[in-house]
Amino acid sequence: MTSSPSLPHMVTRFAPSPTGRLHIGHGWSALMAMDMARAAGGAFRLRIEDIDGTRSRPEHVAGIIDDLRWLGIAWDGKIVHQSQRLHHYDAALERLRDMGLLYPCFCTRADIQASLTAPHGPEGPVYPGTCRALGDGERAQRMAAGHPHAWRIDMAAAVKQAGPLSWRAMEVGTDEEIRIIADPLPHGDVVLARKDAPASYHLSCTLDDAAMGVTHVLRGEDLRSATHIHRLIQALLGLPSPAYRHHPLLVGADGKRLAKRDGSIAIADLRAHGVDPGTLAADLRAGRFPVGISIGEA
Ligand code: GLU
Repeated sequence: MTSSPSLPHMVTRFAPSPTGRLHIGHGWSALMAMDMARAAGGAFRLRIEDIDGTRSRPEHVAGIIDDLRWLGIAWDGKIVHQSQRLHHYDAALERLRDMGLLYPCFCTRADIQASLTAPHGPEGPVYPGTCRALGDGERAQRMAAGHPHAWRIDMAAAVKQAGPLSWRAMEVGTDEEIRIIADPLPHGDVVLARKDAPASYHLSCTLDDAAMGVTHVLRGEDLRSATHIHRLIQALLGLPSPAYRHHPLLVGADGKRLAKRDGSIAIADLRAHGVDPGTLAADLRAGRFPVGISIGEA
């Protein structure tokens, strides 16, 4: 008798940025990711994306952990803090630089906004490539003078080097996987290391999902288009590619998506108002949301 091949151990994760307290959309997302792993006998991990020096706050890290615990969310293994993984991001940047795929960009936001002839991509204006066109001498001179710079990927060169790519996608409510063709080119030369942060979201998230053994990424619909870039980075760095499931975002009565910044129902507020966490978790799992909140259009 031949034994059936064992399925790979499923690993999912929740990866909040500590830029505010969690709202119920985050709780819903974390519960779905945890339940998905538990249902498959897999593991659920927690990662704190705390390298945005301008927006991350240490007090929110503690708050997020409290909110998740209160809601009955339990993760496996140690919490991963991106701020403790900077050397991994540096090493990956070094590798991509050695591959000739990165260039320093000295442009300010104002410089970029001034070039409004730039075409729009899936996430706003596409960088017009000003610093890609700099001559070697000029580039070396600005670097030597210590001009602040980000590192951008030469997208056309990277796409050419990686060749055709696709990723595995699972839509919510089905376990079937479909393949989506990766098309990172319309994003243009995205930033992989920011002037004010050691790595961009695209780089750190992709590296960490691989390092944490994540097999299934469950996250909001707003990050679907970033997956084109993440798949490219995986290919360039020889990383495994997880399956992706993007869930719709919750919206308020005004139809706008919930956001930490506008004080959308924070889990901490519900807790302060004496809401029972078991009931709240059961409601979220059943798709019952507080009055005025609903699932937005995907
Ligand atoms: N840190 C991101 C956020 O809070 C989520 C990253 C991800 O799930 O890929 O929006």
